[in-house]
Amino acid sequence: MTVAGRLAIAIVGAGACGTLLGVRLLRQAGLPVDIALIERAAEFGRGAAYASPNPDHTLNVMAHMMGGEAEADTDGFIRWQAQDAGLADPAAIRNDYPSRWQYGTYLQHLLAQAERECPGRLRRLRGEVQEISQLGVSRYALRLADGGIVEADIVALCLSNLDPAPFLPQGTPRCIDDPWRPGTLERIGPADRLLIVGTGLTMVDTVLDLLARGHTGPITAVSRHGFLPLEDAMPVPYADFFAPGIASRGILAVMQNLRREVGDAAKNGIGWHSVVEAFRVHTSAIWKRLDEVNRHRFLRHLRSLWFVHRHRLPPRHMRRLDALREAGRLGIMAGRIVELVPGADAVRVTLRRRGRAAEETVTVDRVVNCTGPESDYARSPMALVQSLVAQGLGRPDAYRLGLDIDEDFTLLRADGRRAEGLVTLGPPTRGRFWEVTAVPHLRRQVEAFVARLVASHTASGGTKPWR
Ligand SMILES: Cc1cc2nc3c(=O)[nH]c(=O)nc-3n(C[C@H](O)[C@H](O)[C@H](O)COP(=O)(O)OP(=O)(O)OC[C@H]3O[C@@H](n4cnc5c(N)ncnc54)[C@H](O)[C@@H]3O)c2cc1C
Repeated sequence: MTVAGRLAIAIVGAGACGTLLGVRLLRQAGLPVDIALIERAAEFGRGAAYASPNPDHTLNVMAHMMGGEAEADTDGFIRWQAQDAGLADPAAIRNDYPSRWQYGTYLQHLLAQAERECPGRLRRLRGEVQEISQLGVSRYALRLADGGIVEADIVALCLSNLDPAPFLPQGTPRCIDDPWRPGTLERIGPADRLLIVGTGLTMVDTVLDLLARGHTGPITAVSRHGFLPLEDAMPVPYADFFAPGIASRGILAVMQNLRREVGDAAKNGIGWHSVVEAFRVHTSAIWKRLDEVNRHRFLRHLRSLWFVHRHRLPPRHMRRLDALREAGRLGIMAGRIVELVPGADAVRVTLRRRGRAAEETVTVDRVVNCTGPESDYARSPMALVQSLVAQGLGRPDAYRLGLDIDEDFTLLRADGRRAEGLVTLGPPTRGRFWEVTAVPHLRRQVEAFVARLVASHTASGGTKPWR
């Protein structure tokens, strides 16, 4: 505890998760907190997801679900937008997919507003946290790249996913391992022949970026299954049909049940989106009930299929991809790369299509890694993560999906004991809760974490910061 009875909380990362947490803590009555919100990027409130200035990079979730403040009021974002656009009725934009840039601006608005209402309780610190050390039971010191030190009773790691794991040959301009890194796509010439590895939302983002830059060359996107994200649609209310207990019979029983329900719904003219939306409220409970064998079975065989049904594309993007494919400018391939040889003028790639023995060789001008973010913390080059793991203050989870945590978001040390006061929220909690990336999930996690903090603070009569 710093000033008598006040809680010092350090939030590492001011993307969507860290920002929503900061806002919630500031607004939380009865919790005397002093917050240090630390961000290495130039802007607070954007993170990787909401920093793209490309207006085509839109949300993939309808606007009415993206309110940042409370589960009970998810319309906050459309109200802000309507006000910003001078629209009388926010309902007119409920089902829109605004740009992600605009959503980042909304998050910045929420933070600035909460800071105005609670002056002096949140410090914004620009810099990269590179090291963490423990000073006491629930007391930590964070060292920033510029040598600055921040001490706190509670450290909330809101680091999101990690940067994409580099797997393409390094040191050649013909291979691009991180399409999100600012300036990397500028290396691609307008007529370049491209091979994109990955056929998910990162690929779509990259293709939309290339179109905006006037790219006209042929693009082939390859992934193990060749699955493209499916088109989003407005679900209709659908009765809760799924009993999480089924998960004890294994993942195949779960999928059979879901498929049967989708089939029955179709007979009544109801689309799969409505069934999947009704099913989705159970995914964390299902994950918790699956045993280790079935979790690995899901990850190996069903994860990609689930992702394309779960992380969907706004209709207008699907139209653009369809047009590119009809024009023969975008090819989607199910298969894998056997060999990749970058040369001075081109890259020779040997591929094997799924289910085929024969190999085929293509020559392209560039190869782009769109396999998405890394989640294996054991492989992270980030200094902070290496410091955390090296000191045994944290460990990757058993599925290499994020950090190993307890039910209340507390990190588990290398020896399995709790690292009191050290928590993580958002994508790093996937190994424990599975559904953790979209803003509605971040919002719920933030709400649950702060509620627990209030309860433990009250229970300890304001003496103990945590537990
Ligand atoms: C491209 C993309 C599009 C998405 N679109 C949607 C969508 O439309 N709707 C939806 O609901 N969800 C979407 N998501 C999912 C979800 O909203 C995001 O994953 C969300 O941004 C996660 O928030 P976060 O704060 O955990 O991570 P981020 O927003 O990525 O923030 C993490 C922040 O931590 C900072 N940081 C990391 N390490 C350090 C350090 N050591 N020191 C200081 N700062 C550090 C980073 O700079 C970054 O700003 C999208 C995700 C991505 C990647």
